[in-house]
Amino acid sequence: MKANDFVLAVEGLTVSFDGFKAVNDLSLYVDEGEIRVIIGPNGAGKTTVLDLICGRTKSTSGSIKFRDKELTKMSEHQIVHAGVGRKFQNPSIYEDLTVFENLELSYPKGRGVFGALFFKRDQDVINQVQAISESIFLENLLDKPAGLLSHGQKQWLEIGMLLIQDPDLLMLDEPVAGMSVAERRKTAELLKRITKGRSVVVIEHDMQFAEEIADRVTVLHQGKVLSEGSMERVQNDPKVIEVYLGH
Ligand code: ADP
Repeated sequence: MKANDFVLAVEGLTVSFDGFKAVNDLSLYVDEGEIRVIIGPNGAGKTTVLDLICGRTKSTSGSIKFRDKELTKMSEHQIVHAGVGRKFQNPSIYEDLTVFENLELSYPKGRGVFGALFFKRDQDVINQVQAISESIFLENLLDKPAGLLSHGQKQWLEIGMLLIQDPDLLMLDEPVAGMSVAERRKTAELLKRITKGRSVVVIEHDMQFAEEIADRVTVLHQGKVLSEGSMERVQNDPKVIEVYLGH
């Protein structure tokens, strides 16, 4: 298969910090509709890979093809516009605004902060906010200030704020950290629901959750791909066992 056959095709990606290669000649291919989970020990380069894809960090060499676009040549802002959404570990929601307002502000065709003072909400915004709020389990909490949501609900709201921008690729950094068992289960359901025509890349430490959601797993170690495939395959890979168990 060629790089263009994938939604995301990372090839030969390398970044050095003061001579230290945090990501070292890495290649990664993600299909449309796939949930790819990236695992690996601390310091393996997982966060740096997401930082490189979303343009927060610039690569030393290599290419990142997103559909037909070369992301290494684009700014962080252009990458968002191209259809790549990234959620960081700590939610960046507006605590004083309602769930509805948070989603509305993230909607590209919404009124924005100043427009809200002068223009009426149009029906398209209302419909979109309602549709997204259902997929993130917040349809009955639209009028609640975001600051009063539970930890899990805040994470879902932030995912919703990305979804309302309709990205083709969504990248999430440990989305279920600190969540209850019930919230984890619902997050798995949420992620599976949103992959129609969209790919999701997730960094995850929780192996049970990773197994539940992953179509494929990539194990990173020392900035390289150590193993790749189904969770069962990578868990039984002697190279992975050695890195995790140290024997
Ligand atoms: P992971 O997410 O797998 O825990 P990271 O991607 O955060 O790993 O880090 C990989 C390695 O790169 C670590 O050794 C980290 O210290 C180093 N690193 C990451 N970002 C920087 C930076 N901006 N400057 C210097 N070193 C960095």
